[in-house]
Amino acid sequence: MPDIEANVTPMMKQYLDVKKKCPDCILFFRLGDFYEMFFDDAVTASRELELVLTGKDCGLKERAPMCGVPYHAALSYISKLISKGYKVAIGEQLEDPATCKGIVKRDIVRIYTPGTVVEDKMLEHRGNNYIMSIFEFRSMYGLAFADISTGQLYATSLTFGRTYNHLADEIARIAPAEIIINNKSESINKIRTFTDTISRAYVGVLPEEFFDYDLAVQSLNDNGCKQDELRTRAAGTLIRYMEDTQKMSLDKNIKVSYYKFDEYMAIDASSRRNLEISQTMRDKQKKGSLLWVIDKTVTSMGGRCLKRWIDQPLIDVDAINERLDAVSIFKEGFMLRSQLREFLDGIYDIERVVGRILLGTASPRDMVSLRHSLGKLPYIKETLSPYSQRATLLNTLIGSIDPLPQLHSLLEAAIVDDPPALLKDGGYIRAGYSAEVDQYREVTTNGKTYLASYEAQEREKTGIKNLKVSYNKVFGYYIEVTNSYKDLVPPTYIRKQTLVNNERYITDELKKMEDMIIGGEERLIRLESQLFSDVRDTAAGYADSLKLTADSLAILDTLLSFAEVADRNNYCKPIIHPQGTSGKVISIKDGRHPVVEQVIGNGEFVPNDVYINDAEDMMLVITGPNMAGKSTYMRQVALMLIMAQAGCFVPASEAEISIVDKLFTRVGASDDLASGQSTFMVEMSEVANILSNATENSFMILDEIGRGTSTFDGLSIAWAVLEYIVNSLKCRAMFATHYHELTELEKSLPAVKNYCVTVKKKGEDITFLHKIKRGGADGSYGISVASLAGIPTAVTARAKEILAQIDNQNIQAGKKSGKSSKTQISSDMDLLAYTANTVMQDEIIAELKEINVQELTPIEALNVLYRLHQKAEKRI
Ligand code: ATP
Repeated sequence: MPDIEANVTPMMKQYLDVKKKCPDCILFFRLGDFYEMFFDDAVTASRELELVLTGKDCGLKERAPMCGVPYHAALSYISKLISKGYKVAIGEQLEDPATCKGIVKRDIVRIYTPGTVVEDKMLEHRGNNYIMSIFEFRSMYGLAFADISTGQLYATSLTFGRTYNHLADEIARIAPAEIIINNKSESINKIRTFTDTISRAYVGVLPEEFFDYDLAVQSLNDNGCKQDELRTRAAGTLIRYMEDTQKMSLDKNIKVSYYKFDEYMAIDASSRRNLEISQTMRDKQKKGSLLWVIDKTVTSMGGRCLKRWIDQPLIDVDAINERLDAVSIFKEGFMLRSQLREFLDGIYDIERVVGRILLGTASPRDMVSLRHSLGKLPYIKETLSPYSQRATLLNTLIGSIDPLPQLHSLLEAAIVDDPPALLKDGGYIRAGYSAEVDQYREVTTNGKTYLASYEAQEREKTGIKNLKVSYNKVFGYYIEVTNSYKDLVPPTYIRKQTLVNNERYITDELKKMEDMIIGGEERLIRLESQLFSDVRDTAAGYADSLKLTADSLAILDTLLSFAEVADRNNYCKPIIHPQGTSGKVISIKDGRHPVVEQVIGNGEFVPNDVYINDAEDMMLVITGPNMAGKSTYMRQVALMLIMAQAGCFVPASEAEISIVDKLFTRVGASDDLASGQSTFMVEMSEVANILSNATENSFMILDEIGRGTSTFDGLSIAWAVLEYIVNSLKCRAMFATHYHELTELEKSLPAVKNYCVTVKKKGEDITFLHKIKRGGADGSYGISVASLAGIPTAVTARAKEILAQIDNQNIQAGKKSGKSSKTQISSDMDLLAYTANTVMQDEIIAELKEINVQELTPIEALNVLYRLHQKAEKRI
């Protein structure tokens, strides 16, 4: 911005002063009925919001670029800017322009940022809107994240043994809308690039001083915070930042919880993406993900809770079983479940309503929805109570759901059933709640009738038949009595004016009435607003109970959803064993992939068993043609582990699982262009991450490791990785591969077992049976799959010819070397080389045949020989 302060108008000077306080925001500056933007802000906003860019004289030679939006429609413009990654500051008028002299005082009253919006319209109802704070110090991190709309803040630290990768995993799980980070952090660029691939978070870099330890302690204001400086700095600073955006203390709003990484199943970022837990890999949509299948919650609170549970499965067996026992009761009790879900269906988002109550932004409509919700709670408690002894979790829930009858009665008495959307017009306080409101309403709506009845009443009382109530600007309302009735005027009448034929009086009552009629509407609105604030404050006093109730309803809804899905899709209750005990198993009978099963339709999915333990069945090597179902099989096992440890039933007829502390997947190959890594590099980094973090209690699925490089490198890497997992990590794993050579490992490593996916071959056609059986696969059927995929017959026919040639040459080569043809050649790379060779040999032979040796001169013969030699040299 140019140096313009010296010459600008006073209003523009004020603008520039306010703007200095929020240089990183677009400033909405209130001028009358508009929010105006100036200079660069105006240029940006006009472009992003498609507003007309005009100019304003502000004392400078050139007009200042300007654009504006009507104040009452500001929210939709703000929300557009936020979604495009901007921050918006509201510079509001702090005085009533009608009553103040000179320039109206203006200052920032609110800053909207992607991670701190609380407006219902700007939030996704079934998801949390998180802001995250990261404080990095010597490659260690303090981490905190919060959702202001629900008041939850979680904090932890990543110190010894935890690296940037762990931080990235947390960012992937939480998918924050905004991140703040200290400027000395060395991870800023990496985080920026990484978040672009998941949630497109706004990353704000703040000066180191902003993360000051003492200030952070002050903001946190609790005893636990001193134990961990990194965590404290991240959490305390986050609170300060949020307070700064809301311009208010959030003391009562935010509940801080500390957590440790090893309290939950660790799922790294790529596994989360690959397994499509809450969104699909390609379109980032919920549809097609695990969440899509198992989220049948009826409230937004339940939707958010279920997502949290599935994103963060437990490892504590007791806690998991508590959930499973409750789900079991609901699965069996169809009527119980239906009834509870029906009650819940009428319950609003209490969690966020409480958030708005504490922020002072709850509307009368919020209060009505709260009242409706509270009204349903006694029925829920009553319906649940017979089951209190049958499941610990249900007992806890019953104890925590509080119908708050006093608050319910207050809301019922104070607020009308269908209040207007906005506070500014009044009309939301129920008749009968406040005598004053009733009177104002009566008077303002029936002013004239009221005066007429007063006139009649006074005539009757005094006997003055022609007594008249009139109005003029000087006295306001007055009573007029003609001289003939002067003697009947009571002493309470105060004379104001004497005219030739009559006298004019006022009375206290008439003045009160006048007060009420003139300006009554305004006062009525003010009075209603005051009463409403009182009701809101009273409700705020119940915030703790309301939050606890909201949490419990969210959990109840989640358990009911798990039960509903279990019943509809025929899932079973898994048996869970603690980790660390010997004989760690994953034993599943008739397991199915929860999502594929839904997509391909009922009954079509072929169930498969799986048995893995920490001894002789530690590593399953799975071979089979493309498209046979290897990935599906492995993923279904991983998904079932997540489901089971989240407390959900699983798609199988029986399941027994020893707790998994960390889940890893290495599936598919994708370039990470954003971070400048090749497919193979990404693959190897992921494998490296797995190998250095897995424990004996972990589980991993590895799909076609080593594919991204030359056959023999790839095969050797795959072989060595597999050996390392079995011999050193001793971790349960499934390993799908096209390297048939790996099936040889079963002979040398007792922990390895071969499995393959069966196909039926009839002539040239193959049918995928999707059934897993013991043993290695007998072929790749790649060409058959290519033909199924629609590759032209000319190409597949030629491919078959080439394959036959290769096989033939292999057999010959094998005969010479004494090795089997399969171990000689097995990869795409080899195929390519042999194809090129074959073509080249054909060409050389054809050329030789063409030559008439008798007619060649010695020089020509030498030239031909040279050309053929060149050709042979260029072979791949
Ligand atoms: P590739 O080696 O090419 O990656 P793959 O063996 O891993 O193939 P999948 O991707 O698991 O094969 O499965 C291919 C398709 O087969 C799936 O999209 C699904 O539609 C179907 N499928 C897989 N397993 C089953 C099953 N058990 N029952 C029915 N259909 C299945």
